[in-house]
Amino acid sequence: MPRLVMKFGGTSVANLDRIRRVAKRVGVEVAKGYDVIVVVSAMSGKTNELVGWVGETGAFFDAREYDAVVSSAENVTAGLLALTLQENGIDARSWQGWQVPVQTNSAHSSARIGAIPSDNLDAKFRQGMRVAVVAGFQGISPEGRITTLGRGGSDTTAVAFAAAFDAERCDIYTDVDGVYTTDPRITSKARKLDRIAFEEMLELASLGAKVLQTRSVELAMRYKVKLRVLSSFEEMSDDAGTLVCDEEDIMESNVVAGVAFSRDEAKMTLVSVADRPGVSAAIFGPLAEAGVNVDMIVQNIAEDGRTDMTFSLPVDQVAHAEKAVRDAMAREEINFHDLIADEGVSKVSVVGIGMRSHAGVAARMFKALSAEGINIKVITTSEIKISVLIDRKYMELAVQALHDTFELEKI
Ligand code: ADP
Ligand code: ASP
Ligand code: MG
Repeated sequence: MPRLVMKFGGTSVANLDRIRRVAKRVGVEVAKGYDVIVVVSAMSGKTNELVGWVGETGAFFDAREYDAVVSSAENVTAGLLALTLQENGIDARSWQGWQVPVQTNSAHSSARIGAIPSDNLDAKFRQGMRVAVVAGFQGISPEGRITTLGRGGSDTTAVAFAAAFDAERCDIYTDVDGVYTTDPRITSKARKLDRIAFEEMLELASLGAKVLQTRSVELAMRYKVKLRVLSSFEEMSDDAGTLVCDEEDIMESNVVAGVAFSRDEAKMTLVSVADRPGVSAAIFGPLAEAGVNVDMIVQNIAEDGRTDMTFSLPVDQVAHAEKAVRDAMAREEINFHDLIADEGVSKVSVVGIGMRSHAGVAARMFKALSAEGINIKVITTSEIKISVLIDRKYMELAVQALHDTFELEKI
């Protein structure tokens, strides 16, 4: 029988009523003749609660136990949905990651899926199981420990199952009816896109649009999974939502497809470091070892053999980053006169494959920000995106201004 993967996020399974609605949706696909793999998230708010409890046990906790605790909320949803489906007369059972098994590496709290052997599920489908309800976000390491895939990781579980089981489609059901030109919570002018290219979606996700986890888009792109984002609260229809697809499958694309943002960023400057070969490696090596996700990097023009080095990072990693560079200084690997951390910045980005063939996008972007009196602190660009770091208090204003400038409400 053809296979389908359906993934339901936290708000879609927030209580038993919603789980019943999910079961109905799944039932519709089963009635069409699909064997369904349903991937579920934790009920909304549950993962945050568990993360909070782990944090309260101490500042430096065992990452393996963090995963053991934080993964557990998905188990509850999987069991409840399986029970509800059974109640509706559908042959369904729940599967925790280790039971499938979802094999990952040992990078606790941000593990990557290596393989999903299909034998166990296949055997059950052959025996008549119609729905496998899989707990998203979790897997098992080679050491036999429970792992999690990073926040938002159920999306990645879903796409990985679609690839491993050769599903006809992977439907990501969420609380919005598709991928928008920007987060609809920021502006009512945001418009739903009928289609978006994998590469654009990849950039939007990695630049902060949490509607899909970045890794899920990477996997879908690599394994050619037909990926759709749609609402679990609206009527079902075959052309609902947004299809994430190859660039070639989009007739005409806009220069800018969307605006993304990442609210909680920080900017760190090492003032007056020596300007000589090896200095960047001496700074960013220890930062990488400390697990700091450095994003933008700017080195100023050198004067008298010394320069300032500025970089951006998530705001909750500032303490780790400070320790890493100060320790490197104590070991005399680097030397700087001062360290300035600005914890009040956000990153705003515009993304679009049309930028490859259109000049002037950066100029339009900078002009729009300057018209609002917003100062740009750091800029980075790639082939299909431009990102700026600005004061956090202007973030919403910047997103709205850019949405207007690139006329995204007309899409
Ligand atoms: P789920 O719990 O279903 O996984 P998430 O909260 O992880 O849902 O993702 C959905 C949310 O992503 C939306 O409610 C929306 O606020 C946010 N979002 C951010 N950027 C976008 C975008 N460009 N298009 C749609 N939603 C977006
Ligand atoms: N429950 C996990 C989280 O909140 C995974 C997910 O929802 O995708 O991050
Ligand atoms: Mg999510």
